[in-house]
Amino acid sequence: MDEKQCLFCRIARGEIPSKKVYEDSESFAFLDINPRNPGHVLVIPKKHVVTITEASEEDVSSLAKALRRVAIAAQKATNADGLSILQNNGHAAGQIVAHLHFHVIPRFSSEGPPSLEAVLQVKKFDEESMNRIASLISENAKGIGETAKPNTEKTEKESAAEGKKEEISFEF
Ligand code: AMP
Ligand code: ZN
Repeated sequence: MDEKQCLFCRIARGEIPSKKVYEDSESFAFLDINPRNPGHVLVIPKKHVVTITEASEEDVSSLAKALRRVAIAAQKATNADGLSILQNNGHAAGQIVAHLHFHVIPRFSSEGPPSLEAVLQVKKFDEESMNRIASLISENAKGIGETAKPNTEKTEKESAAEGKKEEISFEF
C-alpha cells in the first residue's frame, strides 16, 4: 500500500482522526484504538516505511528519540510500574498495519504475575477515559527534552510536568 492510502500515513497527516499524544518533525504518536492497558500508545515515523529492516538508520534514530519521550510521558501520566515496548515486522510476526510502529504499553504490578499473554489482551475504556489519558500523556511529553535523564536529574519543565497525573481507574 502506498503512502496515499496507508492508514497510519493518513493519521499522521490528520486525514483520519486519532487521539494524538506527541508530534515532532519526523514522528507522531497516538493512542491505540484497541488498548492492551491504559495509555497504550503507537509511535510512528511520519515517513511511510513498513518494517524496521526497511527503514534507514536515520529514520530509526529519530523514531527512537520520539519513542523514549513518549515512553517517559506514558509512564508518568499513568503512574505505571513498568512499560512493555513491542514492535512487529511482517505478517508472520503479527504486523497488521503495514507502517512501522512501536507499541508503548504501560504495565502495572496490580496486573498480577507479569506475562506477555496478559498484555496482548484488548481492554475497553470509555471515550472520556481515553481522552483524559491522551491529554495527560501529551502534557507530560511537552516537558521531555533530549537532555532529560529519567529517574535521576530532571529538567525544570519535567519537574513541573510531574504534577500532571491523576488517578486512572481501571480493572484487570
Ligand atoms: P500490529 O499488530 O503491531 O500491526 O498493531 C497494529 C495496531 O494498530 C493494533 O494494536 C490496532 O489496535 C491499532 N490500530 C489499528 N487502527 C487504528 C486506528 N485507526 N487508530 C489507532 N490504532 C489503530
Ligand atoms: Zn504509511
